[in-house]
Amino acid sequence: MSMMMKFDIIQALQLVSYCFKCDNIKLPRTHHCKECNKCILRMDHHCPWVNNCVGLKNHRYFCQFNFYALLCMIQCTLFISYDLFVNDKLVLQELTKNQQFILTICDVTCFSLVLVMGFLLGFHIYHTAQNITTVEYHINEIKANNPFRKPRIIDNFKEVFGPEIKYWFLPLRNVEKSAFPRTDLFEV
Ligand SMILES: [Zn+2]
Ligand SMILES: [Zn+2]
Repeated sequence: MSMMMKFDIIQALQLVSYCFKCDNIKLPRTHHCKECNKCILRMDHHCPWVNNCVGLKNHRYFCQFNFYALLCMIQCTLFISYDLFVNDKLVLQELTKNQQFILTICDVTCFSLVLVMGFLLGFHIYHTAQNITTVEYHINEIKANNPFRKPRIIDNFKEVFGPEIKYWFLPLRNVEKSAFPRTDLFEV
């Protein structure tokens, strides 16, 4: 008989996790953020743009913010490009050269943001489908054999966006409370 014991990797991760800085146990997927100086449940990354961590309780809002900001940038790019390149007879005649230059810079900036935010949103959607966080993406063992991934992609999405699909695009409900077991005991 083999001496190797079979074990649940998620349970094993939980058993060995302890944060010496917070002096508290850590649930699986919890990481200590140096910037926030506390443990973050299901930590994805620390975002310097919003000066906060993105984790269990706000990953969904982060994706929604990203999605609506991307829509806004697409709208700006299309409208400005239309005035610059298609509708030039009506708009450009009324503008000075300087104003036309500023409008062009604005168009290029909006288009650059479309590319950046589109990449960022795609990155997060792909990782949500794979049920892997940005932190775990840098851990080769989890990346190679992710123990958290559920067989159905929709179940992986539900873990971040909540059980009700109608709220996936609306920041209206705290879906975390119904989607996850009670975890607030572990917060610092
Ligand atoms: Zn900690
Ligand atoms: Zn943080």
